[in-house]
Amino acid sequence: MIPVKNNYQFEDMLDKHQLKKTAPRLRVLSMMYSKNTATSQPDLENVMHDIDRVTLYRILNVFEEKGIIHKVFDLDGTANYAVCHSDCEANHHHDEHVHFNCTVCKNVYCLNELSLPSITLPAGFKPESFTLYASGLCPKCDKKNSVK
Ligand SMILES: [Zn+2]
Ligand SMILES: [Zn+2]
Ligand SMILES: [Zn+2]
Repeated sequence: MIPVKNNYQFEDMLDKHQLKKTAPRLRVLSMMYSKNTATSQPDLENVMHDIDRVTLYRILNVFEEKGIIHKVFDLDGTANYAVCHSDCEANHHHDEHVHFNCTVCKNVYCLNELSLPSITLPAGFKPESFTLYASGLCPKCDKKNSVK
């Protein structure tokens, strides 16, 4: 779990990445840090009615570009975003960990402690990204399942 940061820390983060400290950016940051799962743009739209789509889209894009959040797809192929744990830099992410996609709640979890195995591709293939995800029941859904 990521320790919840306070607003001053979020302001510092934006400063550090040379981003203007706007209220919507701060809200998106604090929302993403408060969750232990990845968040999609529709998730954000549902809780932040006053921020328009285009603004949200731009915020997610610039955060990803700056190395604050990384993109991961859920089982429906929707882009979700999770806070970066590794020291990611602008346009250069190091989030080489396994992701878990829950088939019930559809949440995507970063398994930060599970790093990806290194693979060697056949000659001639030049990798730019490599993802590995597991799917099944997350601890929350598994608990609900066994209570029944
Ligand atoms: Zn990253
Ligand atoms: Zn679940
Ligand atoms: Zn991740």
